[in-house]
Amino acid sequence: MRSNTFRAALAAALLFALSPVRPDLSARGAEPTFDLVITNARVVDGTGNPWFRADVAVKDGRVARVGRVAPSEARRVIDARNQILAPGFIDVHTHVENVFQLPAAENFLRMGVTTLVTGNCGGSALDVAEFLGRIKQTPLGVNLATLVGHNTVRREVFGEAARPPTSEELEKMKALVGRAMRDGAVGLSTGLYYVPGAYAKTEEVVELARVAAAHGGVYATHMRDEGTGVLDSVRESIDIGERAGLPVQISHFKVSARKLWGQSSSTLGLVREARRRGLSVTVDQYAYTASSTSLDSRLPDWVEEGGREAGAARLKDPAQHARAVRDMKDALKGGGFKDYSYAVVARYRPKPEYNGKSIAEITKLARGKSDVSNQIEQIFEMYAAGGASMVYHSMGEEDVRQIMREPFTMIASDSGVRQFGEGVPHPRGYGNNARVLAGYVRDLRLLPLEDAVRKMTSLPAQTFGFRDRGLVREGMAADLVLFDEATVSDPATFERPHQYATGFSHVLVNGVPVIDEGRLTDARPGAALRH
Ligand SMILES: [Zn+2]
Repeated sequence: MRSNTFRAALAAALLFALSPVRPDLSARGAEPTFDLVITNARVVDGTGNPWFRADVAVKDGRVARVGRVAPSEARRVIDARNQILAPGFIDVHTHVENVFQLPAAENFLRMGVTTLVTGNCGGSALDVAEFLGRIKQTPLGVNLATLVGHNTVRREVFGEAARPPTSEELEKMKALVGRAMRDGAVGLSTGLYYVPGAYAKTEEVVELARVAAAHGGVYATHMRDEGTGVLDSVRESIDIGERAGLPVQISHFKVSARKLWGQSSSTLGLVREARRRGLSVTVDQYAYTASSTSLDSRLPDWVEEGGREAGAARLKDPAQHARAVRDMKDALKGGGFKDYSYAVVARYRPKPEYNGKSIAEITKLARGKSDVSNQIEQIFEMYAAGGASMVYHSMGEEDVRQIMREPFTMIASDSGVRQFGEGVPHPRGYGNNARVLAGYVRDLRLLPLEDAVRKMTSLPAQTFGFRDRGLVREGMAADLVLFDEATVSDPATFERPHQYATGFSHVLVNGVPVIDEGRLTDARPGAALRH
């Protein structure tokens, strides 16, 4: 099928090359050659090369020509009006297990993202074949790929136990990773910061990463510690990749302790040094100085063993309660934070009025005073009541910039599909890519536009093995975005996150417009991308 198409294209090209005059197809009443052509664009093709002027024609979901295309050769002409035409952005770090409930994935499309990699931070669908297969019943606006999560596999085999696996349990975990890889997972993810992954020793992860390596996958990791232990965690990540023999992707690369601000020079130095030794290590980041994760993550790991009920019972025991308070005060101090005013509730189901307020503010409201001890009691209470999703203002802007400048850094949101208007989530799910293009490229001139686009397209495609995406080039999948570099913006803020990125006039997924003249279409042309 493909080779026939190729032969036909070759024959057409030869005929075209031999004919002295370009045939005027419309005059002869022939069918247009292309489904669509974008004219008048400045093409930023994903390689990092300076933009060039070309028409880009699409046929059957693929880029069919980059060059000169007469309007009459295509069924539809989109006038780019001098905007930037780039490959659709590939977001390698998302948590979109909810995408089949919100299949348009509008928050991503509106910032130019056309491919999502989910299953990050150790949490994924257990049955990858079933998960990716859902796209048949529920078509998506975006392309979807997934990793297989270590925490998911570990929990399936032996729950939340704080111990290494028996050899039998390890074999079961390896079998589950192997099955997921055969079903199309692009690699193994870990969340060694989270329970139960936090209970795993390096060796366990190496064993599982070897399975992913045998299938040509990557190792993507939310490291054990992004705060005071970040240097050791980077070393551990590199070590795992080296011993298991596969590329390492360090997720949402950051320095998350006030005391260590500026230390990205050391953490990036470790990555550079590993690359000099020939190890494939890359990173991704979101362009904000706040992170977002669970409230539970503030508690010591030993409290959480066995699940929430067991944890809540532990905190009722006076001796363990006192130990947990001590551990949390130490962690605060170690990170250089005076209290929990850096921790803001994104969504707390029992009391939505807490959404958008910091733990310090909530404690003052609920308990009348807001010293650290009371804040910790408030956290315990909210943990026992089901936990909350949170935004943590814990990073320094200089580190964000330093990380962004590195050639091996890609741009990824760490976001889920957003339900418009729900809660006060981190704005990155609406603004991340636009924020880089507007804030860091246009306003700060931290990096050239072409390089920013490369970090969102060909670099993630190369790293995660999407061989026919990430470039505007003939034969590649026609995931394309058109945006105005002068007006692109990310209005979403921490206070008012539910605001779509602006400046993207057209977004095409597999050749089909999903954003057309700024409007979301009904089309759901997304594909499941299997390794
Ligand atoms: Zn994570």
